[in-house]
Amino acid sequence: MKRTAIYPGSFDPLTHGHISIIERGLRVFDEIVVAIAINVRKTPLFTTEERIAMIRESFPGEDRLKTESFEGLLVGYAKERGCQVILRGLRAVSDFEYELQMANMNRKLDDEIETMFMMTEETHFYVSSGLVKEVARFGGDVHGLVPPHVESALTEKFSTP
Ligand code: ADP
Repeated sequence: MKRTAIYPGSFDPLTHGHISIIERGLRVFDEIVVAIAINVRKTPLFTTEERIAMIRESFPGEDRLKTESFEGLLVGYAKERGCQVILRGLRAVSDFEYELQMANMNRKLDDEIETMFMMTEETHFYVSSGLVKEVARFGGDVHGLVPPHVESALTEKFSTP
């Protein structure tokens, strides 16, 4: 049976922290569906299409990686896409409480879908999309935290008034 994991998040924008989880996930799973959650309560910096394009550009020719967006319940979408596992990354202890709640809620909603966590690499534990945006907004250097095409997209976004 093909083992497929769904890796959900905002990816606004994609960072090397996300890339590391995807690369390592591809060693464990046959296929990964990166699923951008459309959240009506959040105003993203990048459009869904821009975020999808950034992820695809980082993994050219990787046909085991699918990048999509979804609205509504994650477990519903995971089931629809034939995913048995929800893949999440863990950074600091502060991620833990929220992730524990989400994992348990998702298990209650559908106990056939398992949540699995991968620990961040030590070089990426402080990298979050939110922090990257904050630094880039004020002209700080985000080199090495995001791939070059994301760095350019951030510069462009914040240079247009
Ligand atoms: P954020 O805005 O916090 O970067 P996302 O919603 O895009 O988060 O994150 C999607 C998933 O990627 C989450 O499971 C999150 O914990 C994980 N993730 C984000 N950054 C990192 C990182 N630097 N190392 C490991 N996992 C990460």
